[in-house]
Parts: sequence; C-alpha cells; structure tokens
Amino acid sequence: MPKKQSKTNYIFITGGVISSLGKGISSASLGLLLQSRGYTVTVIKLDPYINVDPGTMSPLQHGEVFVTDDGAETDLDLGHYERFLGKSLTRDNNHTTGQVYFEVITKERQGKYLGKTVQVIPHITDEIKKRMLAFDDEFDFVIIEIGGTVGDIESLPFLEAQRQLNMEANHKTLNIHLTYVPYIKAAGEIKTKPTQHSVKTLMEYGIKPDILLCRTEQKLLKDVRAKIALFCMVDVDCVFEVLDAEKTIYEVPLMFSKDGLPDRILTKLGMEIRESDLNKWEKFVDKIKKPKHSVTIALVGKYTNLGDAYKSIIEAFVHAGSINDSKVVVKLVNSEKIEDNNVDEHLAEFDGILIGPGFGDRGIEGKIKAARYARENNVPFFGICLGMQCAVIEYARDICGLSNANSTEFSETPNKVIDFMDEQRKITDKGGTMRLGSYPCIIKPGTKAYEAYGNEYINERHRHRYEVNNDFRDLLQDNGMILSGLSPDRKLVEMMELPNHPWFIGVQFHPELKSRAVTGHPLFIQFIKAAVNHKLKKDKSKI
Ligand code: GLN
Repeated sequence: MPKKQSKTNYIFITGGVISSLGKGISSASLGLLLQSRGYTVTVIKLDPYINVDPGTMSPLQHGEVFVTDDGAETDLDLGHYERFLGKSLTRDNNHTTGQVYFEVITKERQGKYLGKTVQVIPHITDEIKKRMLAFDDEFDFVIIEIGGTVGDIESLPFLEAQRQLNMEANHKTLNIHLTYVPYIKAAGEIKTKPTQHSVKTLMEYGIKPDILLCRTEQKLLKDVRAKIALFCMVDVDCVFEVLDAEKTIYEVPLMFSKDGLPDRILTKLGMEIRESDLNKWEKFVDKIKKPKHSVTIALVGKYTNLGDAYKSIIEAFVHAGSINDSKVVVKLVNSEKIEDNNVDEHLAEFDGILIGPGFGDRGIEGKIKAARYARENNVPFFGICLGMQCAVIEYARDICGLSNANSTEFSETPNKVIDFMDEQRKITDKGGTMRLGSYPCIIKPGTKAYEAYGNEYINERHRHRYEVNNDFRDLLQDNGMILSGLSPDRKLVEMMELPNHPWFIGVQFHPELKSRAVTGHPLFIQFIKAAVNHKLKKDKSKI
C-alpha cells in the first residue's frame, strides 16, 4: 500500500566549492521567510564529524557549543536558527555521524539486525532518514542543512539519504545548493567553473539541484546566470546571487525576499504564495544600520583568536544594541595578557566589560583582574558562567579578605568559593555530563536582575560543573554581595550582583543562548543601556 502523502515539504541545503559560505545563515533566513508567510517551519543541522556532539571539542576548533532547553550540546548553527526563527529547538534538530553510528552499533549489539551484515546503505542511511523525518507531518517545512562541502568523504551518507528522500513519493523535496562564484581581479572576470564542478559532483551522487544560491562579491549579470543555468541544469530564474550583506547578517532575509527567493521556492513546491510580514524585522535591521550611540565592550576571554567561540554573545550584543539605538563594538581581550601593571592599558577604553564562559585555568588571573577593574572603576560588568565565578573569587579575595580564594577547577586552596556541584563530584566521563539545559531560577525583588526581567520566575540554560560554594554564602552576603537569583530549592546560586555600582551582574547560566533577533535578552539590553549611560557620563566629564 502506498504511504500517505505527508504535509511536510523538505528543503535540503548543501554547500559547494568552499566552506564558510553561510549555509547556516541562509537556512535560518529561509526559515524566517517561510514562517513570516504564515507557514510552520523547523530546521535540522546534520554534522558529518564522528564526535557524538561538539561538547568535547575546543571552541577554537568548532566555535561555540550551543545548548538547547532540553540540554543537548549542539552546533552553533542552531543558534542562528533560534535567533532568526525566534523559537527554541531541541536535540532532534542536530545530529552527527557519531550519533548515527552509535545508535546503529548499539542496535547491532542488541541483536536488532540478527543475521544481517550491517552496512552504510541501508542501515546508516536508514538511521539518517529516520532523523531527517523526525518532524514529519508536524511542520509545513523542514529545512535540512547538511554540514561540510559536497565532495567530502564524510558527508556522503547524508547526501545518499537526501537522494533517497528525493525519490520517495510521499513527500515533496527541494534541493538548494549554496556555491561560490569567485571574481578574479587580475582577469576582471567572474568564474563559474568551480560551481559547475561542484554541481557535477552533486549529480554524481544522484542529486540534482533545484535552486542555486551563488555567493559572490560581484553582481551576477544575466549572461553569467544563463551560463550557470545551462551547465548546472537549473532554470535560469533559479540561479540567485548572494552578495555579502552590507552591514549585518540580519539583512540576508530581506535580500532573499527582495530577490524573490521565497516565492520561487513556494512555486517549485506547489505551495500557496502568501503575503509576508517582516515589519518588525525591517525596523530591527534599520536600527542596526543607523544607530544613535556607539559603545565599545570588552569581551574578556581566552578564545580570542576565533570570534565564533563567543558567537551567541556577539549576536546578543547586536540585538541589545538595536533595542538601545546603539552600535556595539565588541573587542575580544585576551585575559592571558592582563597583568597587574597593565590592566588600565587593556581596559580603560571600554564602556562595559563582559567576562565570558570558559574552561580551565589558562588566563584566569587576568579575568579576575578585569572583574576587579570593573568593580573599582564603576564600569558596567557582566559575568557569564565562568565570568560570574571570577567575579565571586575576586570579591572573596579583595572584600572578604580570603586572599587565596579560588575555584576547585583551578586550585587546591582551602577557600574554594567556587566548588563542584554535589552531583558532579563522582562523574569521570566528559561527554554530555555537565549540568546542561534549562533550569528555573527565582529572582529577588528589588534587585537589578528583577528590574531587567520584570519577573520573579525565569528559566535559563546552563552548561557547567562548578557553583558558588554554599559554605561561603554568608560571608559574601555579609560583605555586601547580593545573591539575586537562586534555584527554587535555594541550593544553587544562579545570579549575583553588587549594590553601589552602576551595573555589576554575574550569572551562572548562559543568557546569550536565549537572545533573539528583534526582542533581545533582558540582561543584555540592560547591560548595553548601562554602557550607553556610562559613555554619556564619561563624555560629559570631558567637557
Ligand atoms: N568551567 C566552569 C564550570 O564548569 C564554567 C563553565 C562555563 O563557563 N560554561 O562551572
């Protein structure tokens, strides 16, 4: 009996020629555009590496680890999807080769394939298809971004699963290939050959693209598009140029929309073309492009060679900037370089200081110095996870008189003001074993935290093993620190702040993971507001 026709349309996005062309932003933008036309959408990212998740990878290799509400450690592209779509995704939105093999090998050991030889096709590809179809009939569109570049050995099983889904009659599919069309300056010419080769490779795998998104620095003239269309077997009106966004990635959906990409997709899939509502998005982008103010923020950390390591923080600043009518210039400051005699040199220019998340003791003393500088000089301060732990260590050392205060993560000191959470003590495995995902927090009324959220009860996402040591709570509070957010059972300190300071907040969770385009995050919005005020005050005192 033929399978029932599914309501879900599957849009595959593959990448060609080189990596870093912006598949994640393109997928997120398409998602937003379809959603703004009243369709329901979700996005899945498939990653070809063998790690079960990116949780054990260095942020310098892979960029930030994005944590979902349900506690999955996922690829940073999920952050783009959440920020553009304005909604939370789950562990079913990101899969890796490692997870797929893990599942198949576990089933093999359980005897689920008794008598059979377990092979890439069909066993691995069936497992991939199961994951691609996890939201079947639930959404109007499932966008599936396949990581890597076509031609890589690693992503072959994912492409084979795509080919098979293309063949199955019970759901509609559309293949989009994002490729690169370089401009060779010396020749003064645009070159289509890399794209032709990439599409040829794709077709060898049995996948014919329906739409080509051509990333290019120069406009693609009609004859270039015609040439690409002819060689790549796509309709000429399905060859789209993707120029670099002038000022912000949040302009990409507007560029796609202007070029008619969503309508072309809907027509190809036989879906109704509907009016879109991008009003709020346009205003948001407009404010990013024409800010009234400008503030400079220090992002202090040790992963300063790669901005992607702090992707969500940097994006949260863009959102908060737009809402505060301010440009936010974020400078990455390497904490390893901050010493007693040069703190000023590193930090004096900033209107706000954020100490970011991190693991391990490298650069930790520089972070503690940065927290002290912000406290003593009334510079707005925001400590996130490890950043809050540094602020607590600094306060314990300088205000509470525990000169050897430290964290168990870095030292054997008796004054472990930051220590393991109880359930973490016995854990030895590193993968997926931290306190992960969304947990509730109760905020003390009358605090700056409460002022930001306007609510006593909040939920935020976590990724950590250590916490403020409850044995030191009284000492910290007796010396003026406000523990402004606690877990509902009051066992964990989730937020701290300092009175008599314009804005000094530390949080054990990761607010950056919940900052969305257009609406932003309350803490980032307030932090930038404080930075703008700090700057205005500084400017006034110069007159
Ligand atoms: N390393 C610290 C911990 O595990 C902080 C983690 C983080 O900043 N995400 O508690």
